[in-house]
Amino acid sequence: MGTTILTIIVAIAVLAGAALLFGGWVLWSILRLAGRVITAVLGPLPVSRGRRATGLRCSRPNCGAPNPARARFCRRCGAPLREGRERLGWAATL
Ligand SMILES: [Zn+2]
Repeated sequence: MGTTILTIIVAIAVLAGAALLFGGWVLWSILRLAGRVITAVLGPLPVSRGRRATGLRCSRPNCGAPNPARARFCRRCGAPLREGRERLGWAATL
């Protein structure tokens, strides 16, 4: 009799633990999905937008693509950027 009650209690505890884990996982998934939807609706964060604006612009008149400040070459047309040419003296002679 005692073992039956113990078995039932253990089974209930295991089921409760599994339910808690599953509930937490479902809640986390819903929050993650909501975050993704908010990011898709509002666009990228303004902090990253500002960082991109402070980068280098391609010097070619028909390109002018914005590039990250550390970039050596334009990521749209491949032209060497001003800072990269100054750092690498051989690039200017090519
Ligand atoms: Zn370019």
